[in-house]
Amino acid sequence: MGDSIEFRAEKKRARLHDPRRGFAAVEVESEVRFDPLTGNSARICHFAYNDTRPPDLAEMAAATRTECPFCPERIEAVTPRFPEELIAGGRLRRGGAVVFPNLFPYDDVSGVAAMCPEHFFAMDAVPTQAIVDGLAAARDFLRIAAAGVAGGAGYGIVTWNYMPASGGSQVHPHMQVVATASVPNALRRELAAAEAWLARRGRPFAAELLEAERDGPRWIGEEGGIAWLAPFAPSGLLGDAAAVFAGRAAVTELTDADIAAFANGLVRVLRGLAAQGLWSFNLCLMPDAFGRRPRRHALTARLLPRFYLNPRLHVSDVAYMHLLLEERFSMTYPEDVAARLREAWSASQEH
Ligand SMILES: [Zn+2]
Repeated sequence: MGDSIEFRAEKKRARLHDPRRGFAAVEVESEVRFDPLTGNSARICHFAYNDTRPPDLAEMAAATRTECPFCPERIEAVTPRFPEELIAGGRLRRGGAVVFPNLFPYDDVSGVAAMCPEHFFAMDAVPTQAIVDGLAAARDFLRIAAAGVAGGAGYGIVTWNYMPASGGSQVHPHMQVVATASVPNALRRELAAAEAWLARRGRPFAAELLEAERDGPRWIGEEGGIAWLAPFAPSGLLGDAAAVFAGRAAVTELTDADIAAFANGLVRVLRGLAAQGLWSFNLCLMPDAFGRRPRRHALTARLLPRFYLNPRLHVSDVAYMHLLLEERFSMTYPEDVAARLREAWSASQEH
């Protein structure tokens, strides 16, 4: 007890003769880091990556606009409706957002939240209101759906795949909203580690993490009790960001003020990523079970920028390392990711 959270890293040094320097002997450094909660490892190494401009997003938006199932003139006709006993009228509306069933469900309660009537927003122009409406609609839907899943002890998972490099199949901003008794692998492991941490140390991991990271090299900013940082063990090739909702464990617990504060922070971070030429991401809100006590876990949002490593050849930014070896891999240090986003955070605060 009393010992601080451990940020463990192992340095690696590869020796080679570099043809770019007349075959001089060089050492190339890389690093393996261990997530302080789960122990999951992640590699940080240098990789040939030339900054490339995003594809023509306006053209992508225009080409998908006329067939889009989530645009206002088609959404009523082509999206499914929930049974009346779950949602009166079949679809839940909140501001500009509409929640309806996923036509290709992957659980008992599998919804989609179209976040706004607008078909496309560039990443540096996503309006706070679209995030607020989408997330508030997802929360309201999960509050209704929760009771019917695992006797009220299931999980409400909200995710957002933005633009095609993320795996998102529709350009129109939309979130997936799933109420499930079947907790996905990464979340199950994280919750088990959080449970063990609380039992071992008597305090939840999130509280210790925020204490250790606050105002440090991986800190991005904080608003309304929601802290943003770059995780010590990164998840994506160009790093990632996380938001920790202190005192909240599930999306169903979020107040309107929490959602507004989160949306403000997310917009700032998205602008910071867009300023670096990024144009696609995955977002996942990692909850504990509905109504879970005692508090072992804080609701956490993971934001993972996605891109094509080589757009001309459509080279994906995930490969065997991520998918088959479950090893994260990054070309950038989280401390550098945080420094850039911190700058963007204060710049947008001044606006
Ligand atoms: Zn649309």
